[in-house]
Amino acid sequence: SSPPPQQQHVALFAFPFGTHVAPLHALARALASAAPEAIFSFISTPETFTPLPQTAGNLRLIPFDGGKLDAGSSAGVLDRIGKFLAAAPEKIGAAVKTAEANAGGVPVSCVVSDAFMWMAESTAEEMRVPWIALFSAFTLSILTHVHTDDLRSRFGIEEEAMAAHADEPLDFIPGLAAMRVRDLPEGIIHGGTNTNFSVHLRRMGQRLPRAAAVVLPTLAAFEQDLFVFRKLNLPLLIGPLNLLSPTPPISDKEDCLPWLDSYASSSVAYVAFGTVAALPPAELAELAHGLEDSGVPFLWSIKKELRSGLPDGFEERTRLRGKLVSWAPQVPVLSHRAVGVFVSHCGWNSTLESISAGVVMLCKPIFADQRMVARAMEEMLGVGRYFDDVITREGFVTAMDEIMRGIDGKRMRERVKKVREKTVEAMLPGGRLSENFNVLVELVRGR
Ligand code: UDP
Repeated sequence: SSPPPQQQHVALFAFPFGTHVAPLHALARALASAAPEAIFSFISTPETFTPLPQTAGNLRLIPFDGGKLDAGSSAGVLDRIGKFLAAAPEKIGAAVKTAEANAGGVPVSCVVSDAFMWMAESTAEEMRVPWIALFSAFTLSILTHVHTDDLRSRFGIEEEAMAAHADEPLDFIPGLAAMRVRDLPEGIIHGGTNTNFSVHLRRMGQRLPRAAAVVLPTLAAFEQDLFVFRKLNLPLLIGPLNLLSPTPPISDKEDCLPWLDSYASSSVAYVAFGTVAALPPAELAELAHGLEDSGVPFLWSIKKELRSGLPDGFEERTRLRGKLVSWAPQVPVLSHRAVGVFVSHCGWNSTLESISAGVVMLCKPIFADQRMVARAMEEMLGVGRYFDDVITREGFVTAMDEIMRGIDGKRMRERVKKVREKTVEAMLPGGRLSENFNVLVELVRGR
């Protein structure tokens, strides 16, 4: 009789900053349940494990030695990322060994990593196993990394580039016709092109075409642009991870959901700016005034330490129709019928969660790929309004009025339902996003 087939063992490497761990873990959960016979070792720094949902069986957590990150200190996130990136490459091999020992010696047969952890490709190559990258930032922003050198030679770099070209379209790159130079993430042509992190991302752009597959969680609306990814080996567009792999019930310690229950359908603004970005203090105050003046009920996820920047007496005056929380269970909040608009920084996870709940967006991007997302929501999908000026109290009230009461808002609401439906359909068995996920499952199974 033939020997039993070798068990498959997939090692997944997370990038332990911002909201990068959760999407890779969601993908790991989806793969682990689609391929129950394989072992999945999820490798990340230990402090990132705490918020992850519990799993059992074939998905294991393996600690990654990220070096001394001084997580609690005042060092900026870019400093900590720089230190991590300097130490990480040498530690990938050891992490593979730990994962194999933990799996009773079953050798790793496939490496999946966050695209920002592209260094794992070298290890995969040495081991002669495939490397698959998850790009969990905005789908089209991958093109700015793949085309960094083209963009630099065309526009120059730093101040010169931005001052002279800010409003020019990027229509010479297929897929980016709606974008302008000023929508580009920092580090491509401006905003620190020589930082460790920018150098790292430029090298990612050069390395990604070598992946066996690049996985992009996205909306079906971007699927027609698949041809634009031709520089990548196998771009696999899959649906939003919160739909592919729903999180188990999340706790609602600050009672957001019961609070929402008492409001009429689509009447409340949910306000949140993710885990990294912060509005400049002056804009934070204007946003608060604007929320107050608009008369719209609001649920605002804002950390305690930022609240000193709110106008005097704001909490008191808005108590009857406003609620501030330190953390909201965002996915169920967005799905609550009372929520009518998401005032967001346009992080890609938040955006996918909003659109897949059918909620329109008032977009106030802060950095990275967020301006591109805002542009795409306004111009490509018509499901959001891009607030691309400094927030003023009056400007915010006008924008809120248009979305909550105006004809524009009504149209956006109709469109967001369609964008959502198309994505949900494409994720059903036989749909294109679902087929792409199946291709991925077969790849990690070694077939
Ligand atoms: N989030 C949440 N509750 C909050 C604020 C944020 O659950 O009060 C979650 C949100 O659902 C999303 C993530 O944090 O999944 C933020 O990710 P995103 O990519 O939007 O922004 P980033 O944190 O990377 O800036």
